[in-house]
Amino acid sequence: MTDVLVVGGGVVGLSLAWDLAGEGADVTLVDAAAVGRAASWAGAGILPPARVESALHPIESLRGLANRLHVEWAEALREATGMDTGYRRCGGVYVARTVGEEASLIGLKSLFDEEGIECRMWEGEGIRQVEPNLDPDPPVRRALWTPQECQLRNPWHLRALRVGCERLGVTIVEHEPIRAFEQQQGKITAARSDRRRWYAGAYCVTAGPWSHALLEDLGLANGILPVRGQMVLFRSDKPLAEAIINEGTRYLVPREDGRLLAGSTEEEVGFDCRPTHDRFEELTEFACSLLPALRDAQIEAVWAGLRPGSFDGMPYMGKLPNLENAFVASGHFRSGLSLSPAIARLMSQLILGKQPQADWELFRVDREAVNAGPSQPM
Ligand SMILES: Cc1cc2nc3c(=O)[nH]c(=O)nc-3n(C[C@H](O)[C@H](O)[C@H](O)COP(=O)(O)OP(=O)(O)OC[C@H]3O[C@@H](n4cnc5c(N)ncnc54)[C@H](O)[C@@H]3O)c2cc1C
Repeated sequence: MTDVLVVGGGVVGLSLAWDLAGEGADVTLVDAAAVGRAASWAGAGILPPARVESALHPIESLRGLANRLHVEWAEALREATGMDTGYRRCGGVYVARTVGEEASLIGLKSLFDEEGIECRMWEGEGIRQVEPNLDPDPPVRRALWTPQECQLRNPWHLRALRVGCERLGVTIVEHEPIRAFEQQQGKITAARSDRRRWYAGAYCVTAGPWSHALLEDLGLANGILPVRGQMVLFRSDKPLAEAIINEGTRYLVPREDGRLLAGSTEEEVGFDCRPTHDRFEELTEFACSLLPALRDAQIEAVWAGLRPGSFDGMPYMGKLPNLENAFVASGHFRSGLSLSPAIARLMSQLILGKQPQADWELFRVDREAVNAGPSQPM
C-alpha cells in the first residue's frame, strides 16, 4: 500500500508525484501508456508572464506562483538529475496584423500594465528592433514586447521530472490503464487495472482528457473534454528568432538549436490525435507569413496532442466532495505546462492535509458541468 496513487503521468501527474515525494510521501504513479508522451509532450512549452501579487484572476495568480516555482524547479531538477529542462527567459512578442487584433493588443497592454507585467508597445519600423527577421505579409500594425515570457523544452522537462521522481523513490508503472475504482463508506478502497488492484491512502486523477471517464466512474459529472492541437516543427541552420512570437491563439516558438515550433489549432474531434493535411498547410503558411526566412527551413515533424479542455475553460482541482480520499487535477487546457509546478505544490499540500493558500472557487470540482458527451472507454 502506497501513500498516494497518482493516476496519469503527464506533466501534472509527474509534477505532483515529484512534489509529494519531496515532502516524504510514498508515491506510485500509474499510466495507461508511456509517461510524458501525451499532450504534455506535444505542447509548445510557452510560459506566459504573470505575477502572483498583482494578478486579477485566480488562473493568473496560479500562473504567477508557477512562474516563481519554474525558476526553482529548473534548478532543483538540474541538481537532482544533471538534466537541462530548457527553461529559458526568451521574451515574447504579441503581434497584431488586423484591426481586431490591434484592439485586443491594446486591451492586453492595459491588462499587463494593471498587473505590473513589464511590456512595451512598438509600431512601424520599431517592430524590427524586437525581432529582425519578423517581416510579415500582411505587415504588423503593432507589436507588444514583454521580456518576462519564458519557455520550457517540455520533452526535456518531462524526462527530468521522471528521473527526479525515480531518484526520490516514486514507483512508476507504465502501460497499466486504471479502469475503475472500488469504494466503501465514502472512501476509495482500491483502483483497478486489468492486472490487479492498487491500494493507497489517497488517489489523485491526473489523466488529462481521459479524466472525464475516471471521474464519472467516481460519480462526478464533469465537463472535461479533449481539444486537439496540431504542431509543425521547422529546422534551420541557425535560430531565426529569439522571442516567442504570438498572434491571437497561434504562435512561433524558437529553440536555441535552430528548431522552431509553429502552433496551434483548437479542434473538438473527440480522441482523434492524428494531424491533418489542411491544418498542416494552414500552420505552415501562418509561420512563413510571419518569418519569411522559414520558407528555406526544413520541416522536421508534424504532430497533434489532445489538450484537457473543460466546458467553462477552468481546470478541475481539489478533493471530490463525496469521497474523503479522492482528488483530481485536470482540465488545464492550454496552460497545463505553464501552471504545472503550482498545481503540484497546491495539490500536494491539499492531499497531505495542509491548507493551501489559493482561491479555488472557480476550480471547484463539483461545479455544475455541461457534460462533454460520450467519452472514450478507458
Ligand atoms: C499542441 C499543443 C500545444 C500546447 N502548448 C502549451 C504551452 O505552450 N503551454 C502550456 O502551458 N500548455 C500547452 N499545452 C497544453 C498542455 O500540454 C496540457 O495542458 C498539459 O500537457 C496537460 O497535462 P496533463 O498531465 O493533465 O495531461 P496529459 O499530458 O494528457 O497526460 C495524461 C496522462 O494520463 C494517462 N492516462 C489516461 N488515461 C489513463 C488511465 N485510465 N489510467 C492511467 N493513466 C491514464 C495518459 O496516458 C497520459 O500519459 C499545449 C497542448 C497542445 C496539444
